[in-house]
Amino acid sequence: MSKSQSRNHAVLIVSGGMDSCVLSYYYAAAGFDLHLLSFNYGQKHLKELTYAKRYVTHLRERFGQGPRAIQVSYDIIDLPIARLLTNSDSALINADLEMPKGHYTDDSMKATVVPYRNPNMLLQAATVAWNEHASVVAFAAHQGDYSQYPDCREVFVDSFNAMLAAAMNSEEIKVESPFMRFTKAQIAALGSSLSVPFELTWSCYEGGNNGLGDQHCGSCGTCVERYEAFKLAGIPDPTVYANNPERFLAIPGQSNL
Ligand SMILES: [Zn+2]
Repeated sequence: MSKSQSRNHAVLIVSGGMDSCVLSYYYAAAGFDLHLLSFNYGQKHLKELTYAKRYVTHLRERFGQGPRAIQVSYDIIDLPIARLLTNSDSALINADLEMPKGHYTDDSMKATVVPYRNPNMLLQAATVAWNEHASVVAFAAHQGDYSQYPDCREVFVDSFNAMLAAAMNSEEIKVESPFMRFTKAQIAALGSSLSVPFELTWSCYEGGNNGLGDQHCGSCGTCVERYEAFKLAGIPDPTVYANNPERFLAIPGQSNL
């Protein structure tokens, strides 16, 4: 593939969640050919990748035809993050740790940090981008990630871009995080304007385990954050929650918004 042919080619990191789903539709609507990458890094909520496959199918149907059709490919890459972090205190990958419940606080969000997760994923994505002469690698960090996820901050993205440039003596590939200044509610609103199929996304860190099946638990931090984003954006929430997240909202001193 020549560089001129691949000028609008992007490699995106996607989970099954709503933020990266909106990211995919955002770049698709902008006319980029897409290579979407999901990662099995030992997360408890591996169920999210089932949902990623569903919205990728929908994305292909929506944007893969007609005179302005784009190419959409999708891969799941195994990363041994959980295997390397045997002493991790992250509830996302340590089976012995219970997932914190309720609206995110600094402490409960800290329990969901997976060290070096984004750098690991972005390096895989950059390698794919190099192989395909893609100019863009993107991921869906947002404002709510800022306080406890160091690898979701602008300083990290800038540093990672500097590392990429030094590693290959080339600035051909740039990491972008277009939602960095967005709240999750603003991402939901953008997704709604792009007719994103939110019912094909999955957020819950419980991953349908313990009999939950296709229900979000409604109690973990990311369920509450998801519920709150739809509510603040004034958008119907298609999610089936086992417990109503409403009880975790509007707690004085604990709201992030
Ligand atoms: Zn949940």
